[in-house]
Amino acid sequence: MIQIEIIKGDITQSHVDAIVNAANTTLMGGGGVDGAIHCAAGPELDAACEALHGCKTGEAKTTPGFNLPAKFIIHTPGPIWHDGKNNEDELLKNSYFNSLKEAEAHQCHTVDFPSISTGVYHFPLLRAAKIALNTISNFPSYSIEKVRIVAFDLQTKAAYDYALTLS
Ligand code: ADP
Repeated sequence: MIQIEIIKGDITQSHVDAIVNAANTTLMGGGGVDGAIHCAAGPELDAACEALHGCKTGEAKTTPGFNLPAKFIIHTPGPIWHDGKNNEDELLKNSYFNSLKEAEAHQCHTVDFPSISTGVYHFPLLRAAKIALNTISNFPSYSIEKVRIVAFDLQTKAAYDYALTLS
């Protein structure tokens, strides 16, 4: 069973096997956590991402961590929230599930996630937290031992802490 922890922090500082990036479908960097990861990993990441030719919403692709302390970066575009009737829940679940599959494929033991889609993509926070934690706790893991949600602010940490008490 995967051990789950919620912490407050900056995911670019994580010393883990893989961090997950809440990317966009171009994989060419953007704002929020995506911008912070591209900035901290350095220009080699931009070149590696260019060679991946984008990624569909809910899917995941992996690059090295380059200048980051993390060995790998798993890039997944989460869904943009519209009204909840555009498959948003399923797509967010896919982002977590497919990122964990990528982590397994790279024999990762430790994986850190940001709160995917709850920034500029406006997915409701508690709803996203429940989907994230359910998907992680039900994932059939072989190599992954520990997953952390790295919340950038206290409101996000509180939502995931609460969702953890429900799961
Ligand atoms: P999305 O486009 O998927 O909504 P955002 O980057 O806008 O992605 O936001 C996702 C979450 O990542 C938000 O909670 C935001 O506060 C958070 N975030 C921003 N920078 C960092 C960081 N350096 N480490 C961890 N989380 C971050």
